[in-house]
Amino acid sequence: MKRRDPRTRLVGHHMVDWLFLDKPAVNNMVEYEARLKASERDLRSIILTIPTMVWSAAPDGSVDFFNPRWLDYTGLSPDQSRDWRWSAAIHPDDLSRLTDAWQSILVSGESGETEARLRHFDGAYRWFLFRANPLRDESGNIVKWYGINLDIEDRKRAEEALRRSESYLAEAQRLSQTGSWAWSPDQDIRYWSEECYRVLSFDPQDGLPRFEEFFQRIHPDDQPSFREIIQTAIREKAEWEVDYRIVHPDGPVRDIHVVGHPVLSTSGHLVEFVGTVIDVTERRRAEQERARLRQLEADLAHISRVSTVGEMAASLAHEVKQPMAAAHTYAAAALRFLDKSPPDVAEVREALTCIVNETDRASSVVDQIGSLIKKAPPLKEVVDLNAAILEVTALTRSEAVRTGVTVGTQLAGELPRIQGDRVQLQQVTLNLIVNAIQSMRSVEDGNRELHISTVSIEPKGVCVAVRDTGHGLRPESLPRLFEPFCTTKPDGMGMGLSICRSIIEAHGGRLWATRCEPRGALFQFTIPAESRHP
Ligand code: ADP
Repeated sequence: MKRRDPRTRLVGHHMVDWLFLDKPAVNNMVEYEARLKASERDLRSIILTIPTMVWSAAPDGSVDFFNPRWLDYTGLSPDQSRDWRWSAAIHPDDLSRLTDAWQSILVSGESGETEARLRHFDGAYRWFLFRANPLRDESGNIVKWYGINLDIEDRKRAEEALRRSESYLAEAQRLSQTGSWAWSPDQDIRYWSEECYRVLSFDPQDGLPRFEEFFQRIHPDDQPSFREIIQTAIREKAEWEVDYRIVHPDGPVRDIHVVGHPVLSTSGHLVEFVGTVIDVTERRRAEQERARLRQLEADLAHISRVSTVGEMAASLAHEVKQPMAAAHTYAAAALRFLDKSPPDVAEVREALTCIVNETDRASSVVDQIGSLIKKAPPLKEVVDLNAAILEVTALTRSEAVRTGVTVGTQLAGELPRIQGDRVQLQQVTLNLIVNAIQSMRSVEDGNRELHISTVSIEPKGVCVAVRDTGHGLRPESLPRLFEPFCTTKPDGMGMGLSICRSIIEAHGGRLWATRCEPRGALFQFTIPAESRHP
């Protein structure tokens, strides 16, 4: 029978193998005892100097040894830490979890580990990994537990920072309805963020879908263009973006905007695409709604313009008839000069020149009326505000004469160039002039004076003022003047000033009214030189 190695009585097989590693076999007990003592000394010095925390415990879990590193760290003496007293150095919030874990390791008899915060002698806690291994004798009974504590504070902090940034990212994705993804043309979809699942209406529980499954959710009309764009992106290893509709399994269709960015290997091969998907359904709807409102606003402005022009129909007819009548008179004179013998050619030429001028005047009035009545989308062009105002003043001249109003203009010589819609700005001026003339109709005594002026203002811009000596504005009506349907006229619509204000504000300017003393009203508007309109 093979003689049992006496060494195994004292320490387990593994330990013995380790103690006698690379050493020649022992021949007798004395030599063995001597070598064992030497090994124990070695082991002891290793345990005392090893740069990690080491401890041992009896089979029942009561700790009987902590190495100096453990004691130095906690500041506890061996006595203060023996048995279960070491638990004083554990963070109170972690203690019950740690003792539960330790108990279940003891019960299982298997190696195990857990995490807890251990107090430094200065009172600060750091996270440690507690790992315990049982040592068994030859019949399998646990004779000892050995354990180490590893400082994992930095890892914990990094994990915490990562968790926090992941949760910020997830929150940002949720709020912006933006998902992120990674897709390799060779290896299919590799990553979808939680929001990506939500935006594309897939269930995260089902795991990553295959690309073809995702592709089938794209609206059939959008599938060809989608496929073409990604095929081009793969071929050219290029950035890509595309809009498509996704058909959710329960019916609704959502508008999606996707952006892809190629990731290349160091050798220039396409590894994958990473990118974002955004649910833009609400944004699209809002854009459509805004466009609809803009159209309504433009329609309303047009109606109001036509009705203002309509209010002056009689004066405008007169404005056209006047040059026609003049042209008629010049034509009659020309005929007379022709009948002379010999015909007075010089006089005929002069009369014909006058006819040309008068008909030009008439046609420019017609053009003016035409451009005010025409329905056209807003333009952004350089507007010579003085010239635009003079045109409107010319159109309203007959109306002013009819009402006994004298018109004065004072236009600044050099105005900064402004950009905007000429017809809309003329509409505002026309509205202010017509209102001013109307306000003076009821004034019996005193002068009826309309004064229109332009000045440059700082920071670079223009201010236009229309002042009258009409019945003026009541203080209580001032705040409501620019509200829709605010009118004091029996046949008024009350939309003019409200539309004027939105036109001016769309040009980045301001329109306001002031009461004048002893009577009358002053309406002013500004337009900045760097207008954003339309
Ligand atoms: P409407 O001319 O159809 O009444 P507006 O919005 O152009 O609509 O004008 C609103 C109201 O503002 C007028 O009814 C009038 O009471 C007042 N208003 C406008 N301009 C003047 C002005 N120059 N003088 C006095 N009141 C004015």
